[in-house]
Amino acid sequence: MLALTTGLAACAGGGLFGGGDKKGGDGKTEVPAGQVVIRFLDVGQGDAVLVRSPEGKTLLYDGGRSPSRLAGYLQTYGVDRLDLMIASHADADHIAGLVPAAQQARPRLFINNGLAGTTQTWDRLVTALKDAGTTFQKANNQVIKLGSVKVRVIAPPAGMGDDQNDNSVGVRIEFGDFRALMTGDSEKPETQAWLAERRPEVEGPFQVYKSIHHGAANGDHPAWLAAVRPENVVISVGENNYGHPTQTALDLYKHNGVRIYRTDRQGTVTFTGSADGTYTVTTDR
Ligand SMILES: [Zn+2]
Repeated sequence: MLALTTGLAACAGGGLFGGGDKKGGDGKTEVPAGQVVIRFLDVGQGDAVLVRSPEGKTLLYDGGRSPSRLAGYLQTYGVDRLDLMIASHADADHIAGLVPAAQQARPRLFINNGLAGTTQTWDRLVTALKDAGTTFQKANNQVIKLGSVKVRVIAPPAGMGDDQNDNSVGVRIEFGDFRALMTGDSEKPETQAWLAERRPEVEGPFQVYKSIHHGAANGDHPAWLAAVRPENVVISVGENNYGHPTQTALDLYKHNGVRIYRTDRQGTVTFTGSADGTYTVTTDR
């Protein structure tokens, strides 16, 4: 399936990209060339999102729970080096696939929530990253440039205790006027705290948005969606897993006019975005 869609209204003035300091001769803000590709990989239950900048720089945000599936995708898409790996949190359906990714694609930088996992999978991931010579950073609202793509890391708010879901690390991806947002398995306490902090990173609109917690009932909620204002939502979910996605989540998206994509029904969902905010969507099936 291929759909060509015009993105939402462009950000006024200089925009966020380039800080408005790169002016061309005609006084307009310089627009980055090429396209960013964001793939929501069909990993069954779990999340795994692969981002490639126009310059070929790569980010893997989570890896799903199947090492073999994730390893296969890296081969399919020709990723032999990761510039950035982010673990939203340490649950197995998000980090198991990161282990082969760390071994095969030796990330230059790894960012997580700073809460060590308690599983052997976590230990394997740390070992693989150390062997790869990867730099470790705790999420601290840093901005990482992948060529002309900006990755704004959204650190968990203070006071979330040691709950992994509510310490999910979010990312806002910006390529000119094209924007995507993903916040792991952040449940209501975390998203409400981000809203209370008036975090600019979670302010929409976004062309691309990842459903929180695989469409669980404790994920997306009306106040949050009103801030995020997504145009498309991808629910990364396996078949018959924990009752995800819930009807509550599906109804919420429908009520807000959000186009819904599901990896359990459509396979890998790929957005190819241009700096003017336009994009195409393709699905495996
Ligand atoms: Zn999960």
